[in-house]
Amino acid sequence: MKLSRALLEGSTLMAEPQTTRRRPPRFDLIAGNVSLDFVNTLDDRHTKPKELLTSYIDLARFGEDTGLLTATQVDRLFERSYTLPDEAEKALRWARELREATHDVFWAVINKRPAPPAALARLNADAQNAAGHLRVVQVDDHFEWRFDDLSNFEGILWPLAHAAAELLASDQLPFVRACLAKECEWFFLDTSKNRHRRWCDMTKCGNRAKVRRFYAKQREGASEI
Ligand SMILES: [Zn+2]
Repeated sequence: MKLSRALLEGSTLMAEPQTTRRRPPRFDLIAGNVSLDFVNTLDDRHTKPKELLTSYIDLARFGEDTGLLTATQVDRLFERSYTLPDEAEKALRWARELREATHDVFWAVINKRPAPPAALARLNADAQNAAGHLRVVQVDDHFEWRFDDLSNFEGILWPLAHAAAELLASDQLPFVRACLAKECEWFFLDTSKNRHRRWCDMTKCGNRAKVRRFYAKQREGASEI
C-alpha cells in the first residue's frame, strides 16, 4: 500500500501549513524518514541513553514537529493528557515499545543480521492496527489515503508504525544507516547523491570526527620529529 511521499516523510496530508506552527521545533529531524527520526528520540542509545520522550506531551510535540499532528490536535492532546493521565501514559509506553521494536529491526538490517522475531512481530502488530485506521478520502478531484482522526492518544502511533513497515518493504532499505559516531548512532535514510552519507549531521558528528582526525594527525606529525 503506497501512501503519498509527503506522508511517509513525515509532512502529512493532515498537517496545517507551517505558518500555523505556534511552538518552535524541539526535535532534531535529520533522518529523512519519520520512523527513523522516531528511533532517534532515545538519544545516545548505545552509550548513555537519554530519553527524549519523557511524557506524553513530548510525544505529541514530536508529532507536531514532524507534521503528523496539527498544532490544534496537539493542543487538544495536551488538555486531554491532564484529564486522562493514565491513558496518556499508556499510549506513551506503547510508543516507546514501538520505537524499540523499530530500532531493533533496523539495527539488525544495518548490521546485516536477521530481524529479531519478537521485534518484527511487534512492529507488524502495530502496522496492522495502523492499517485498520487508514481510509481513502476524496480531496477535490482525487483520492488519498488518510488516517482516522489522530486526536486520540494512540493516533500518533499509526503513521509511525506504517512508515516503518513501508520503509522495511521498500527499495530504500539498503540506504538506512546509523551515524558513524559511536556515541551517536542516530539512524537516517541516506538520500545523498552518491549514497555516501556517514553522519547524522556533518556540523555535529562529522565535524567532531574531523577535529579528532586533525589532532591525531598532529600527534603523528609530532612523534615523527
Ligand atoms: Zn551522529
